[in-house]
Amino acid sequence: MGVREIITPPNPVLRQRARKVRAFTPGLQQLIEDMIETMRVAPGVGLAAPQVAVSQQVIVVEYAEEEDDHPNPPQLPKLYVIVNPEIIRRSKEMISGAEGCLSVPGFLGEVERHQAVTVKGVDRRGKPLRIKADGWLARILQHEIDHLEGILFIDRASKVWRAEESQVEAPVPV
Ligand code: ZN
Repeated sequence: MGVREIITPPNPVLRQRARKVRAFTPGLQQLIEDMIETMRVAPGVGLAAPQVAVSQQVIVVEYAEEEDDHPNPPQLPKLYVIVNPEIIRRSKEMISGAEGCLSVPGFLGEVERHQAVTVKGVDRRGKPLRIKADGWLARILQHEIDHLEGILFIDRASKVWRAEESQVEAPVPV
């Protein structure tokens, strides 16, 4: 297949609870390949299967951790493919930040998220994995896992505004 269409409201798939993956079929591998390609072309730093109209618990994230003091050589983006992800630990500390979404184009919102999370799931072959994340990576993971519950960032945002009115530098659509 390749790049898939990213759906937007009111497509009901965005509001459904995604099904757990139980079979690691060639079809699943194709879905994951297509999601990675779609995320890169968009471009975005994350994508959940419901955003391409597939109601299954699959997310992909590709993100380069930004260092304050420009690292040399620059950090390469790291790709995460997580099937059946589940947040098993959340920091008490919350942090507010601007985010966008490829399924809600043209808008940004101020959203409070846990500063750190631990995510458990399996990889594309079904092998268990666990990711400890903080900062932006933790935000992206919470945003993508929300998609699997039918939740959009605009549901959680304290305010939402049009991207062209944004004073925020380089917001990250996911
Ligand atoms: Zn999103």
